[in-house]
Amino acid sequence: MKSLPYFCRGEVIRGFGRGSKELGIPTANFPDSVVEHLPADISTGIYYGWACVGSGDIYKMVMSIGWNPYYKNTKKSMETHVIHTFKEDFYGEILSVVMVGYIRPERSYDSLEALISAINSDIEEAKVKLDQPEHLKLKTDNFFSSAPHSPPPSTTAAPSIMNGH
Ligand code: ADP
Ligand code: MG
Repeated sequence: MKSLPYFCRGEVIRGFGRGSKELGIPTANFPDSVVEHLPADISTGIYYGWACVGSGDIYKMVMSIGWNPYYKNTKKSMETHVIHTFKEDFYGEILSVVMVGYIRPERSYDSLEALISAINSDIEEAKVKLDQPEHLKLKTDNFFSSAPHSPPPSTTAAPSIMNGH
């Protein structure tokens, strides 16, 4: 995928409420404005990379890009699981991410246990891959040090969204 690494940021919005948090794997959702900017060659599936909430620390992440059932599968969604335990939710904050590599396409699972174990193996793969020097380099990219300190007023969210390289 020639668009990788792909940098983007946007406000964390409420998701479809599929209970990811109950599975122990909360996923922070981006608004449509961010999803709609995705380059055409970024296909659906699971990605790994780096993420930062507001101007906080930079953590490893896994992201799922898929078809959003809320919009009858006509719109994509981007859901980021930050590999870190946060004390509180961060709805309304700006999430900055760089997608670094692709793990696998989406698929369906016969059981919740099978789904959870697939996600946990994605997380393990992301942790190992991101320790490679060429991926570690992106953690210190200027993109993250330019992360905004506070969310924008909601009516003017669009200009703060930065997509692409
Ligand atoms: P929703 O359907 O609203 O996305 P989730 O159950 O997926 O609900 O929970 C996602 C929310 O959990 C995020 O928007 C964020 O505020 C919070 N959260 C807490 N810890 C994490 C984490 N490690 N990664 C992603 N989101 C987290
Ligand atoms: Mg979610």
